Amino acid sequence: MNAQNVQKYALVTGASRGIGKAVALRLSEMGYALLINYKANEAAALETLRMIEAHGGTACLLPFDVAGKDHVRKALDQWHEEHPGAVIEVLVNNAGNRRDALMAFMEDEQWSSVLGSSLEGMYHVTRHVLKNMLLNRYGRIINMASLSGLKGLPGQVNYSAAKAGMIGATKALAQEVARRNITVNAVAPGFIRTDMTGDLNETELKAQIPANRFGTAEEVADLVAFLASSKAGYITGQVIGINGGLYT
Ligand code: NAP
Repeated sequence: MNAQNVQKYALVTGASRGIGKAVALRLSEMGYALLINYKANEAAALETLRMIEAHGGTACLLPFDVAGKDHVRKALDQWHEEHPGAVIEVLVNNAGNRRDALMAFMEDEQWSSVLGSSLEGMYHVTRHVLKNMLLNRYGRIINMASLSGLKGLPGQVNYSAAKAGMIGATKALAQEVARRNITVNAVAPGFIRTDMTGDLNETELKAQIPANRFGTAEEVADLVAFLASSKAGYITGQVIGINGGLYT
């Protein structure tokens, strides 16, 4: 953390399950108070909260749909009113969903849902949180992209576009805010074992992966934790792959 003896917060979007949950737990171990965002699954979010508190950490639930500009503004404004002077030092834009379809058969809703939860969600939440980071002259922003956003995957035109958009935004924003000690990086996981990949056949797909397995949410969380640490202050505008050697 940046300063001693002051309660600093980390906001992780989509922290009720999967990678976001593992990231929230790791950031809590680093001493951050956690804002656990999720969209709908309150039971899962409460389990993240319980696990953080069981390890002596502090957290609260902050549900909102990242794709909804007004939801984001209302929830974060209200939180700031209730916590005057509180500082969100780390933002992990992790919320995302997959709605795969071949382009020829893609429904508008499949396109907008995926762009909304990843790319637009990143925009809405970051714009809100960034102002205080600029005032505080310190911040860490980590955007959860994907191997799909680097190489493009058939059946994922929506998802590849959303994640590639996040990568472009990461590189641009990093240059805007570097002078204020704010780093902005993207993490690009390959196949990670979570609910999102629950419908995939790991036994078949792992043959393509040099490490011969899917990754774990905890492995991604360790990478995010390093990027969120003060030790990573000279790393910005980067896209860090975590994919078991799967060639992009
Ligand atoms: P997951 O297990 O399906 O969890 C998704 C999380 O995002 C849940 O907490 C969900 O909340 C939340 N969420 C989804 N849409 C949201 C919205 N509009 N507003 C707020 N929260 C929302 O997914 P995951 O595998 O952990 O993936 C996390 C991130 O990593 C995603 O951005 C994904 O694209 C990326 N990623 C994953 C993999 C992989 O192999 N798993 C690979 C590359 C990139 P609820 O619980 O309320 O639904």
